[in-house]
Amino acid sequence: AEMFGQLTTGLETAWNKLRGVDVLSKENIAEPMRDIRRALLEADVSLPVVRRFVQSVSDQAVGAGVIRGVRPDQQLVKIVHDELVKLMGGEVSELVFAKSGPTVILLAGLQGVGKTTVCAKLAFYLKKLVKIEDALVFLSLCCTKKLHILLELIKKKKNGFQGKSCMLVAADVYRPAAIDQLKILGEKIDVPVYAEGVDVKPAEIAKHGLEEAKEKSINVVIVDTAGRLQIDKSMMDELKEVKQALNPTEVLLVVDAMTGQEAAGGKLKTRITLVTTFNIEIGITGAILTKLDGDSRGGAALSVKEVSGKPIKLVGRGERMEDLEPFYPDRMAGRVLG
Ligand code: GDP
Repeated sequence: AEMFGQLTTGLETAWNKLRGVDVLSKENIAEPMRDIRRALLEADVSLPVVRRFVQSVSDQAVGAGVIRGVRPDQQLVKIVHDELVKLMGGEVSELVFAKSGPTVILLAGLQGVGKTTVCAKLAFYLKKLVKIEDALVFLSLCCTKKLHILLELIKKKKNGFQGKSCMLVAADVYRPAAIDQLKILGEKIDVPVYAEGVDVKPAEIAKHGLEEAKEKSINVVIVDTAGRLQIDKSMMDELKEVKQALNPTEVLLVVDAMTGQEAAGGKLKTRITLVTTFNIEIGITGAILTKLDGDSRGGAALSVKEVSGKPIKLVGRGERMEDLEPFYPDRMAGRVLG
């Protein structure tokens, strides 16, 4: 299934009704606005969000006037595009790294959302991630043929220009399979996995893992925690404990973008309130949206920021280690508009 396919088609209905119109007006946008509203609701965007969105787009469209060389339907597409970008948080929200010592990234989320996979994907992503400043230094030294300086620099830097060294910590003590899965993935991407089996408390494992990472001068520690099928108090308490033990730089909630075939509206609603609940309970710094390659209607991608106040920082779009990328609101809006 094409991501956002249905939403894209729904919105096209709106533009098509403005063909041959000279200028956008309250009257001639009424019907297209209803199409936009319907398309967003069908994509599982929540009603209050849709209301605000439609109101803002209408206001801008009515006041838009005539722009030479731009057709009114194109004008509306542009307004919707910009409003979608705004809805998704505007700018890309970069991961934050600790100024000194290892950066700790705590991953939380319900069972089956792809949390363990994300742990490994994230390490793989960070390993490759070369800071743009480093890349520029590298390039300029190459261009000016100052290769001896470059060599010195690479020697001095622990990891040269190879991105971040990572360690995975297996703090999901309820499913031995999850620990094994993390170990297998770690091996595959050549990243160490810290585990202590299932008899030690997650907060303890996390603390020990962090100590080991400090000893080994690891840059980023990614902690996999236990999920449940539903939010429950013991999961939240455990997460709070782990968080307290680690003082993480990032607490990222992993959210599944896929909506079930049946009762999708209800399920998605819980998915969005999920972000809010986790944020209130443990305090998150952002979300990672997984399974965007699947039959996603797009609702979660569009509403997480608006509903929870926390940005989506990364998206997963497949099961391969390469399938993790930053969440770019403008590119996402571009995809929505087809
Ligand atoms: P956890 O219970 O949250 O740790 O979830 P897992 O990491 O074990 O993933 C659950 C299932 O979802 C596995 O079969 C993964 O291969 C699959 N999965 C994870 N991320 C993605 C994704 O981005 N796209 C798709 N299509 N499948 C994914």
